Amino acid sequence: CGVFGMYSATPVDLAWMTYLGLFALQHRGQEAAGICVSDGEKFHVEKDLGLVTQVFDERKLDTVRLANARVSIGHVRYSTTGSNLRFNAQPLTTRTNKGVLGLAHNGNFVNALEVRKGLLDEGALFQTTNDSEVMLNLIARQAKEDLITATANAMRELRGGYACVLMSRTQLVGFRDPNGVRPLVIGQRDDGAWVMASEPSALYAVGARLIRDVQPGELVWADRDGLHSMMVHAARHTPCAFEWIYFARPDSTLDGVSIHESRVRMGEQLARERPVEADIVVPVPDSGIGAAIGYARASGIPFDYGLYKNPYAGRTFIAPTQEARELKVKMKLSPTSAVRGKRVILIDDSIVRGTTSRQIVNLLREAGATEVHFRVSSPPITQPCFYGIDTAARKELVASTHTIEEIRELIGADTLSFISERGLEAAIQGPGVCLACFNGDYPAGTPLLNDVDKLA
Ligand code: 5GP
Ligand code: SF4
Ligand code: MG
Repeated sequence: CGVFGMYSATPVDLAWMTYLGLFALQHRGQEAAGICVSDGEKFHVEKDLGLVTQVFDERKLDTVRLANARVSIGHVRYSTTGSNLRFNAQPLTTRTNKGVLGLAHNGNFVNALEVRKGLLDEGALFQTTNDSEVMLNLIARQAKEDLITATANAMRELRGGYACVLMSRTQLVGFRDPNGVRPLVIGQRDDGAWVMASEPSALYAVGARLIRDVQPGELVWADRDGLHSMMVHAARHTPCAFEWIYFARPDSTLDGVSIHESRVRMGEQLARERPVEADIVVPVPDSGIGAAIGYARASGIPFDYGLYKNPYAGRTFIAPTQEARELKVKMKLSPTSAVRGKRVILIDDSIVRGTTSRQIVNLLREAGATEVHFRVSSPPITQPCFYGIDTAARKELVASTHTIEEIRELIGADTLSFISERGLEAAIQGPGVCLACFNGDYPAGTPLLNDVDKLA
């Protein structure tokens, strides 16, 4: 998911700004979008299933627009917990003794179901199956505490990988899990308005510059007195490796490490670890481009434009069924004449189920490639993610049930190799990133209960 929030002491069209911010974060989730805006008195919210541009046309945006808007938040969603239902769209809003609150959330709380069960036993009500509602309930139930103290206490109770923006009528709040697994950055515009977002690309979209990353375990808030910060509880910093491998935009920099440059380094590393003789290096667009540039650079084998990506197609993994995913691959990718008669090194960021990869290898062979050497800029994904990246259930992960040789055969490549864990770490920022989906070492814990839809 992607989150965005803005606080402005001077009148700014925050409905429009939030729309722009979410548009820049669309790659982080295409299932649902939502915006909340307040002017200190009124509190408007609109959300629905669909892309930002589908949910918000001119008329819909007008319904959240306020002349003297002060605070806003927004969310783009793909479902990790809770099904893809309209009532699970975010921001979630609720009325409390602290006034109306809105929350937008990226990631997962691994103990949300235990906490939710405890709250239900005390008589709490839940409207959704979304674990963000657990956070909102924890905050709302601390009736004697102010919003900031209540939020800090809720952060101490919930574990996992998460980054959230929260708003009242007068405050914008942001916070990041103790391991900093999920990203959150702070920006500011020349007019003084504060912005919080999952990625810097959303700051630039609203004319703000990057001030800094929110630190692991840090709670920040913006109000009429400016920006404030409180360290709640920090642990070992283990940001999600997948942000650099695949998820974040190449023009973003997270925790001081450029996404594009790290992808180039992954490709260079892969070329050193897994060399092969061939004629051209071809990326699977768009997420394989950075690594293919690096592979070509380090190997001396020319980069070429062997696959065209239809820019109007979305990300294939969002399609809900296997058949839908397979048809979407052809909607999205087709080979160019560059591959005819060539030995191709094909570079992609990851192999999840293996189905897309198989079709792409097939497309290249049909187009006349004589050999296809598949190189992957992440290690084999063998474990599920519990921190908000939907890398599919374990039984669907091809690398959890097959050896590399079996995967090679399955996808029909001449050779297949993955980057090493150490090589990946080096390409990102040295030791410390979360690699749990590759090695099962979960820095922020794992869930005890995990069937949300069976609970009340
Ligand atoms: P596969 O061959 O595993 O079907 O698809 C691999 C390609 O699709 C890669 O480019 C990868 O980025 C993307 N992909 C497919 N499914 C998923 C998924 O469930 N999660 C993520 N993060 N990426 C996926
Ligand atoms: Fe990222 Fe994988 Fe860790 Fe999930 S398990 S946070 S996808 S590195
Ligand atoms: Mg891809």
